Amino acid sequence: MDRYVVLGNPVAHSQSPFIHAAFARQTGQTLEYGRLLCPLDGFARTLRRFADEGGRGCNVTTPFKQEAFTLVDAPTPRARRAGVCNTLRLDAGRWIGDNTDGIGLLRDIERNAGVQLAGKRVLLIGAGGAAAGVLGPLLDAGPARLVVANRSPQKACSLVQEQAGTSAARPTGAEVAATGLGDCGSGYDVVINATTSSLQGATVPVADSVLAPGALAIDLMYGPPARPFLAWARGRGASARDGLGMLVEQAAEAFELFRGVAPDTAPVLAELSQRLAAVA
Ligand code: NDP
Repeated sequence: MDRYVVLGNPVAHSQSPFIHAAFARQTGQTLEYGRLLCPLDGFARTLRRFADEGGRGCNVTTPFKQEAFTLVDAPTPRARRAGVCNTLRLDAGRWIGDNTDGIGLLRDIERNAGVQLAGKRVLLIGAGGAAAGVLGPLLDAGPARLVVANRSPQKACSLVQEQAGTSAARPTGAEVAATGLGDCGSGYDVVINATTSSLQGATVPVADSVLAPGALAIDLMYGPPARPFLAWARGRGASARDGLGMLVEQAAEAFELFRGVAPDTAPVLAELSQRLAAVA
């Protein structure tokens, strides 16, 4: 049977096996999808062993996405743009590396939340692997302004320079800037928390004024019940959602890369939300 895994450390919490099994049932695909815990210094050898044992493809989660990009034989254009891979497919002995995080977030915002980004003011908080994956697709959606704010402002500057430093990299003409958390401006229509602050039980230290009236606030994190960013945003009148929709959408794009067939995400997102609510 064709074998797929999610590689990470930690990986026990990953919902990817549940999601891919649901996609496989829905589309009539026969496959096995499991979890593979990598030692922190052992991503490359774990990936090699998985390929030697007949593995067909994998998803990569924290903290290996950057390393995955350096190991693949053929990155897709969107992986090259991000410098980070979250989806790998073995093709005639060569690893194809893709990044589906950006398209996943975009679909969750535009399709699931019903907010079109064209002409909007967008604040992206964070400059780690997740932010690197979503910045390009967010720019392609045509916001009027996109600001990347990070605790270490230099990392936000580097990210903007690498991915949006030229006008060719901003085909829709979006205005782009990088800042620290304390001076990121006000009145954003969409505020995206791509930091690990919620994992630490902390709120991102940005001013309440970053939220425009009726703003959409998204925390890319999902799962545990204590989500201070979502509570902060709801308390200030924003519409808030976690990263579960993005998770399912990026998985759907990965599934299509693996199997050549696009699953329907809505029933799987509903089932996963219920499942996580039941264990919370
Ligand atoms: P990284 O470790 O690569 O980056 C962490 C980022 O968080 C950095 O920008 C860091 O700032 C910032 N940060 C950490 N702690 C704080 C804090 N207390 N206050 C403010 N900023 C902080 O993580 P990833 O980019 O891989 O992941 C970010 C989040 O996105 C995670 O919660 C992850 O679970 C989620 N994610 C969700 C996905 C989904 O499908 N829903 C997909 C991918 C990721 P600095 O540079 O200053 O250290």
